[in-house]
Amino acid sequence: MNKLKRLSENFRDITANIRVKGLVQGVGFRPFIYRLAYRYNLTGWVENRNDGVVIKAIGQENKIDEFIGSIKREAPVASNISSVSKEIKEHEEFNEFRIIKSKNASKEITDISPDIAVCDACLKDMKAQPHRIDYPFINCTNCGPRFSIIKDLPYDREKTTMAPFIMCDTCQKEYEDVLDRRFHAQPVACNYCGPIYKLHLKSKTINHLNEIILTVKDLLHDGKIIAVKGIGGFQIACDAQNQAAVKRLRDLKNREGKPFAVMFKNVEALKEFVFLNEAEQRSITSWRRPILILKEKQKLASDVSVGFNTIGTMLPYMPFHYLLFEQLNIPAIVLTSGNISEEPIVIDNDEALKTLTRIADAVLTYNRDIYNRTDDSVAFIINNRERVIRRSRSYSPEPVNLNLNVDGIFAAGAELVNSFCLGKGNQAILSQHIGDLKNLETLEFYTESYKRFKKLFRAKPELVVHDMHPDYLSTNFAKDLKLETIEVQHHHAHIASCMAEYGLDEKVIGVSFDGTGLGDDGNIWGGEFFICDLADYKRLTHFDYMPLPGGDQTTKEPWRTGISYLYKIFGREFLNLNTPFLKELDHDKVEFIVQAIEKNINCPLSSSAGRLFDAVAAITNICPVSKFHAEAPMRLEAAIKSNESYAYPFDFGETISFETTIREIVEDLKEGFPVSGISAKFHNTVINVIFAVASLARKETGINKVVLSGGTFQNRYILSNIESKLILEGFEVFTQTKVPSNDGGIALGQLVIGAKRREKTKD
Ligand code: ZN
Ligand code: ZN
Ligand code: FE
Repeated sequence: MNKLKRLSENFRDITANIRVKGLVQGVGFRPFIYRLAYRYNLTGWVENRNDGVVIKAIGQENKIDEFIGSIKREAPVASNISSVSKEIKEHEEFNEFRIIKSKNASKEITDISPDIAVCDACLKDMKAQPHRIDYPFINCTNCGPRFSIIKDLPYDREKTTMAPFIMCDTCQKEYEDVLDRRFHAQPVACNYCGPIYKLHLKSKTINHLNEIILTVKDLLHDGKIIAVKGIGGFQIACDAQNQAAVKRLRDLKNREGKPFAVMFKNVEALKEFVFLNEAEQRSITSWRRPILILKEKQKLASDVSVGFNTIGTMLPYMPFHYLLFEQLNIPAIVLTSGNISEEPIVIDNDEALKTLTRIADAVLTYNRDIYNRTDDSVAFIINNRERVIRRSRSYSPEPVNLNLNVDGIFAAGAELVNSFCLGKGNQAILSQHIGDLKNLETLEFYTESYKRFKKLFRAKPELVVHDMHPDYLSTNFAKDLKLETIEVQHHHAHIASCMAEYGLDEKVIGVSFDGTGLGDDGNIWGGEFFICDLADYKRLTHFDYMPLPGGDQTTKEPWRTGISYLYKIFGREFLNLNTPFLKELDHDKVEFIVQAIEKNINCPLSSSAGRLFDAVAAITNICPVSKFHAEAPMRLEAAIKSNESYAYPFDFGETISFETTIREIVEDLKEGFPVSGISAKFHNTVINVIFAVASLARKETGINKVVLSGGTFQNRYILSNIESKLILEGFEVFTQTKVPSNDGGIALGQLVIGAKRREKTKD
């Protein structure tokens, strides 16, 4: 550890214990404290603790106070200080200031920072430091790649993909100088010693950065498509205002309907196209630079997001992005994942040149390897809080701290938007977003990431937790590990995931709404109300079971579920309803589905909230056929044009029935009531259902804590309104923020359930 000699002695020195709480680990915090101690002539030490760092500081009292002021003002961008406290202690003598190694070795190991967007100081250096003028990989202790380049620990340069780059003398000096911003910044490099970009055109390869940027600019202005190597993988770019280019990208990527993410030049450009409140601005300009879903003000090319009133937006986060936008005359570029259809994004240069050339007119690579693949993360703001719905770049592998021993547990996650979770001490380490475990490539990514996480975090799983569903590839993977296993109900895991975020370990009212998940009775669940704790749950009530004609096929064809609801309510009479939805359907197909229901052929029963939304999206003819996952509920939500206070009735007995709801929707349709209003009234109905059940549950049990989770709570209208409504009625409401409420957060829930059950069996 670094030692710093005390410069002067002072008899009026005091000794203070300073506690800094918050997120201060793995972000260069201790070197930062060390530099400050040097500045203020203090001795003592700094040490990591579970919830922050503790500093022993000996020096003049006014210097210690200035030191504390600087900690608050100058803290590394990726840290997040929640409190700093000072306590005067009995005098102690030290002749230096030291960084003390953590006593808890397992703790040390989890200090792997996520990747950090380039910081302002580096952007200034990029225009000022002679050896880093326009250096497209500029970074410092406060910014730059981390997780994406780390192969093993301890986090030293030779254990990263920066290893092949030998530092020049200037960089080496900065790296070794305690007082330099780049002291021990592992990826430090410059124009003389760092990685370089290459632009591959069909006819030639360009190596010179200025020429590369000017060529990329010309290509983008020309409406061309370019594959660009990002921090965690390749991305595909084109001019976001050029409809022909965006349409061509859609066709080539075979991507119908699903919105593209867009990178804007800066906040000013962003504000011309979207509405941005304070919390949203804070999130989108944060060092994590997520894709933030924002309300559209002005249209980009119409094919960016067809039929949605929101855009997935982000701001530059790599030095190259800034250099490019300096040259571009356009405010925004589409920046979507560099993959063919649903496979994991490409990270390898050769593979990009082989496969992405099918889409892109040019491929931009650089010669530093990406080791850990990360997609851009996605979030939105509701009720002033950031809600992550895809947790990857700049979020992973930041652990979730728990009050529970989860050591030695591996949670395999679910099937869709999978992410797995490893327990280490009291920390849950969620993997980056892996994807839908439906193709070989994604399963390989899963398997490889599991091995890497195990090594990186020195984890030795002894207990494996998986979903009850026997056919999930994650379940099979879990069983193949031949360790002790625990199976967990899907919706219980959703609630436990949210509870884990808040450290809840007691009985709560759990509302778990999503598309699908296997229930105890063999039916498909998804509109569930529980009284549960971390170990167990009791199903309080649920949405009525409905037959899903064709099973899984209903997720792609919401019209089937629409028919199922109509048939249940009206019998064959529904055929005479004469609404646009029914008029446009193929009669033979409808007859086929009706017979399947009547004869109960391949019609599994489901209480899914997702399918209810599907049915309404179909019956209103907003989205009878779904071209991407959850399109129908998304379009139904997007159909809401303004706030509507009316709602439909519903029936609440043993279970919750939407028969009357659908009946009235059909009435509204017959009367020509606009679908925007119908959608709003339907959403309000669901909100009322949650509220009614929660109120009754509170009355019966005295439990006041309501936990909401599951993919349905990505619905911003539902989430914002139900959260506010419940809070207004005095409920303590818990909703997911750091971890996705969709199946990407399931593994965290599985992990804590596993831990709790293990604890119980030991008692
Ligand atoms: Zn920096
Ligand atoms: Zn250098
Ligand atoms: Fe789910």
